[in-house]
Order: sequence, then structure tokens, then C-alpha cells
Amino acid sequence: MSQRQVPCPCCGKLSPWSSDNPWRPFCSERCKQIDLGLWAAEQYRVAGSPVDPLADDGSDHRA
Ligand SMILES: [Zn+2]
Repeated sequence: MSQRQVPCPCCGKLSPWSSDNPWRPFCSERCKQIDLGLWAAEQYRVAGSPVDPLADDGSDHRA
């Protein structure tokens, strides 16, 4: 009863705000991943020209 609950930013489900919930303020790892995934996808789209798999071989060394 003393546990504070917060609505998940992804799905709106109430989840406990406590150290038992490492995904807070999300309700679960899945929701956190979804939210981060959407964010990343959006950034990618904004940044993005479509990736050409042939061009990817030599022009983008990040290792
Ligand atoms: Zn959720």
C-alpha cells in the first residue's frame, strides 16, 4: 500500500516505482526496449539516407 506507482510511458500501465523495478518508469524491460527502439528508429530516420548494403562495405569503418 505504501508503494508508489507510476504510469508506464510506453503502455500507460501502472508499475511500482521501487528498486525492485529496474525498468522504472517503464513497467517492464519490453516497454523500455520498445520506447528506446522507437526513439532510435526516429533518430535514424531523421538522420538517414537509406543504407546501401554495397556501400556499407568500405565507407563506414567504426571498429
Ligand atoms: Zn509498459
